[in-house]
Amino acid sequence: MQIEHQCPQCGAPVVLEETDRLLTCDFCKTRLYMQPRDYFRYCFTPLDPFLEQVIYVPYWRFRGVHFSCRTSGITNGILDKTFLAVESKHFAQTLGLRPQALKLRFVQPADNARFIPPNIPFEKSFVEAKHNVTYETVTVHETRFVRRGTEGDYAEILVTRKELKEERLYHEAFVADTMSLIYTPMFVRNGRFHDAVLNEALYEGPPVYESFPYEFFSGGWAINFLPTLCPECGWNTLAERDSCVLLCNGCNSAWRMDGQGLGRVGFATALSTKAAPGSVRQYLPFWRLRVEVEGLKLDCYADLVRLGNLPRVIQPGWEEPPFFFWTPAFRMTPAVYRRMSKQFTIANFSGEFHDRLPDAPVQAVNLTPQDALDSLITIIADFAINKKKVLPLLPDMRITLREALLVLFPVTETDHEYIQPDINCGLMKNVLEQGKNI
Ligand SMILES: [Zn+2]
Ligand SMILES: [Zn+2]
Repeated sequence: MQIEHQCPQCGAPVVLEETDRLLTCDFCKTRLYMQPRDYFRYCFTPLDPFLEQVIYVPYWRFRGVHFSCRTSGITNGILDKTFLAVESKHFAQTLGLRPQALKLRFVQPADNARFIPPNIPFEKSFVEAKHNVTYETVTVHETRFVRRGTEGDYAEILVTRKELKEERLYHEAFVADTMSLIYTPMFVRNGRFHDAVLNEALYEGPPVYESFPYEFFSGGWAINFLPTLCPECGWNTLAERDSCVLLCNGCNSAWRMDGQGLGRVGFATALSTKAAPGSVRQYLPFWRLRVEVEGLKLDCYADLVRLGNLPRVIQPGWEEPPFFFWTPAFRMTPAVYRRMSKQFTIANFSGEFHDRLPDAPVQAVNLTPQDALDSLITIIADFAINKKKVLPLLPDMRITLREALLVLFPVTETDHEYIQPDINCGLMKNVLEQGKNI
């Protein structure tokens, strides 16, 4: 989904991606952080620019990673959906492929524009048509071994039976998700709604006009464009278009948009004892989270070893808190995200940190501590060796964030892979490319 906008500084056209948080103008080199008051509001442009009255119909737009923990296992996927935000018999229930096919723009004030206010609230549970419990009949094929006589050899008997299998949804999570409102333009002619993008009537037959309340563009819908200079030293911060953390090499600091300004982010750079000198040309960011888990005892590393039945002999210090979860702070495919979170958390990194930004480039941080937090119950379920016991605990599990630290890890590389030698964890380079589309 692409959004056309004009540089607030010089007016040059800029094309933004849905996941962009920074507007960078190629013409005047301005870089601004985009902050909506609540969520981004986009619209399509009517085919006819001279329409006298345009009525904008709202659709919720949701995009993100979806994890679900079910009886049959843990699944993940990427959701990309739109659905109508008002009750209506005539408007299409979804925008279909339109957001991919046509460029959008931010909603702006216009004299001829009226907006139908959404009257269906957005709830993430709408995104997945879910049933908490479903049953299906499965055919089970088994081989039984029956001994012939008391001393005889065994005979194989094939048994086929029908079984009722219960599939229960214990937990679902949405991570790295964006929610926005997309308005599609309509006009009324001969008592019928017409789609103003296609310039055609929405339906045939006798006119049936549904009436809606209207609202006009509100100042609160406008996006704030904020400077990306370091609040401490005024230096240009380092950030990519979809970064949620800005790094300053001038004064060694990290910043995150909170409320209406930039707030400091605690960070550390991990020292590697295993990477050969000169072999590190890239750093990857991770969130180290200290959390409080309610509904399952998980407050020291020994608890994790027991939960996952890890092949480790419990060391004396492992029974003491704190215990940290580690998750990647950059976008990637959900399956790799789960694997890396497990590997980094199991590694229980106890090496040294220092408090300066590395000299080598750092992969852009585009997942927030909240994203990390949203994924933790799924990761805990993933760890559990005894799924039958742990899955039913998930609905009542509560996790509270106590501390988030951004840790930058040095990686070595081959042609296709990054490797963190201290954790002994690899990441295919193409995963970073794929992550850009999530
Ligand atoms: Zn510009
Ligand atoms: Zn600075």
